[in-house]
Amino acid sequence: MDFEFTAEQKLFAEGVRKFALAHLKKDALKRAHDPRFPFDVAKLMHAQGLMGITIPETDGGVGGTLMDAVITIEQIAAVCPRSADVVQFGNFGPIRTFAEYATPAQKKRWLGDLLAGNMVMSLGMSEPEAGSAVTDLATSARSDGSHFIVNGTKVFSTFSPDAGIFLVYVRYAPGLGGIGSVIVERGTPGFTIGPPSRFMSGEEWSELHFENCRVPAENVLLGPGGFKKQIASFNVERLGNSARSLAFGRYAYDKAREHVKTRQQFGRPLCEFQGLQWKFAEMAIRLEGAQLLLYRAAGNAERGLPSAYETAVAKAACNQVGFDLAHEAVQVMGALGYSSETLVEYCMRRCRGWMIAGGSIEMLKNRIAEHVFDRRFDQRPQKREAAE
Ligand SMILES: Cc1cc2nc3c(=O)[nH]c(=O)nc-3n(C[C@H](O)[C@H](O)[C@H](O)COP(=O)(O)OP(=O)(O)OC[C@H]3O[C@@H](n4cnc5c(N)ncnc54)[C@H](O)[C@@H]3O)c2cc1C
Repeated sequence: MDFEFTAEQKLFAEGVRKFALAHLKKDALKRAHDPRFPFDVAKLMHAQGLMGITIPETDGGVGGTLMDAVITIEQIAAVCPRSADVVQFGNFGPIRTFAEYATPAQKKRWLGDLLAGNMVMSLGMSEPEAGSAVTDLATSARSDGSHFIVNGTKVFSTFSPDAGIFLVYVRYAPGLGGIGSVIVERGTPGFTIGPPSRFMSGEEWSELHFENCRVPAENVLLGPGGFKKQIASFNVERLGNSARSLAFGRYAYDKAREHVKTRQQFGRPLCEFQGLQWKFAEMAIRLEGAQLLLYRAAGNAERGLPSAYETAVAKAACNQVGFDLAHEAVQVMGALGYSSETLVEYCMRRCRGWMIAGGSIEMLKNRIAEHVFDRRFDQRPQKREAAE
């Protein structure tokens, strides 16, 4: 067991940090308050080899490890938190599911543009009546031979106001085995994108409406029975979410630590008050613990998909610790931390969302409890006996 990065990982982290300092530091504050997807950053990252890190070179990716992608999120977020969203998009988000299961023709058509930062992709999974209970999704896809006719509504899709294509979970038939996914292009007749709504984080999302939307059969990503595959690759997305949570918490913690070293009240630097020292000691303990859980999940996955259990543990820990650290950082920086002139309040707002997105902390704990007790706990009401 080795708790140190390898020499190559250290070198890689240093290279990403230098890139971030040179290209992303200057506009970090402005970028954080701009809801539009930063395509300029995506192009820069592509040129630097930071898009498609875990995607094979034969598909236009870099052929690296999940750990390299986690390191990239950490180094980028430490300089420009908002730009970590581009790392998420280019390495962890629906692009990863797409790269895993797309046909050669689908990859040829879209993957190059996605990796180059010319196009962003959005994930349409959640529905008004299917949030945590995602397998209740009702968006239907019915074959008419050459096309699938899609009907339904999706909500909360990240990047939807800017996306060129959408990876949409659909139902071909009843039950878990009836779920799969299709790729829908912006502008497809029958597909309308509603006006943007805003999350507390400042990010925008639009409702996606499908009304007899004809999707060519060659745009099917996963047919009936594809749900388990989708969720397996969704664990990569969850690790990106975990890495960003912790990196944003660390960003806020670092800013707060520097602040209390120099800010004087009652004639002494704030860090000389034991009430604040213990807050930092507590934060350091939690940060280190969550970090190890994240690295375990990413490190064990190497070039494959991470384990569902290790991902659930890492995400629950990183989401909670990231938010708690950012929240505490706001407190110890006083009104300055609460002000939009620092990115500390931004980190707190972003971390809050990740406690809900991509599998809420409660749903992850349900998954962890199943591992603890080595049995499945059905979340649905027990079926009444036929005799009742
Ligand atoms: C920032 C952000 C980005 C998102 N991006 C996307 C995206 O790109 N694409 C997409 O499709 N969706 C996206 N979502 C939606 C996200 O997937 C859902 O919010 C999530 O699945 C929870 O669903 P819900 O909001 O409907 O809450 P609900 O499912 O209604 O849950 C409400 C509360 O009840 C708890 N709860 C529910 N069931 C249980 C249970 N069995 N046991 C214990 N507690 C339970 C939940 O944890 C939660 O706290 C995003 C959400 C956020 C906040």
